[in-house]
Amino acid sequence: MIQISGLTFDYPGHRALNQLNLSVERGSVTALVGANGAGKTTLMRCIAGLETPLSGSIAVAGLDVQEEPRAVHRQMGYLSDFFGLYQDLTVAQCLEYAAASQGLAKEAIAAAIHDTAQRLSLQDRLKQKTSSLSRGLRQRVAIGQAIIHSPQVLLLDEPASGLDPEARNELAILFRQLQTSGMTLLVSSHILAELEAYSSHMLVLKDGKILEHRALSNSPHSSRALQLSLASP
Ligand code: ATP
Repeated sequence: MIQISGLTFDYPGHRALNQLNLSVERGSVTALVGANGAGKTTLMRCIAGLETPLSGSIAVAGLDVQEEPRAVHRQMGYLSDFFGLYQDLTVAQCLEYAAASQGLAKEAIAAAIHDTAQRLSLQDRLKQKTSSLSRGLRQRVAIGQAIIHSPQVLLLDEPASGLDPEARNELAILFRQLQTSGMTLLVSSHILAELEAYSSHMLVLKDGKILEHRALSNSPHSSRALQLSLASP
């Protein structure tokens, strides 16, 4: 579903991604694991078309991100690590705003809000202002905004950061539901155990390169093994 070849990205004076290659399987929940500064956010932003790489190619659902950005955008949802919601808007208004931004037809917006709210168990919150929601619920709304157009691919940058264990569990259940509905998820974190609970595949990123790519067995030993590979020079 995502194919990347020879991706290099430079910030001024710093190479963040270095000839990176990867593929993300259709229908997978792929964990992108790496220490602080490994390049996770930069990689996500490149896939989302928010950064222009120095070289290399990125294809999502067979579409080139640089050449067909609008078509890719329709197939993709992206949740930034620093997502923001308009505090004065209700949940329904936030979803409506996202639907309009995604170019959904006016007559399709009400149904999209309804379906998204159901998917995220937000039906009872639609009239509530986002400022009055817990962090976990605000994040649900942000995920709702990212999937309002039913994308094939969802990118989530450190979604579990700052959540309590219960909210993390709910997030894991939600990710599994989205996967079951046919969506492909790429989820980043620097905490291995956090991702293992719901991921089918794991990518280890270090110094702007993929160090390891494997299917997860959910064995209790895999976290330790990956920790070692992250720590190795
Ligand atoms: P974290 O887990 O801390 O968010 P990350 O894996 O997401 O880290 P990135 O944010 O992609 O890593 O950063 C990759 C590298 O690029 C880091 O060394 C970072 O310091 C550097 N970097 C990020 N943004 C910039 C910028 N705007 N200018 C210069 N260097 C940057």
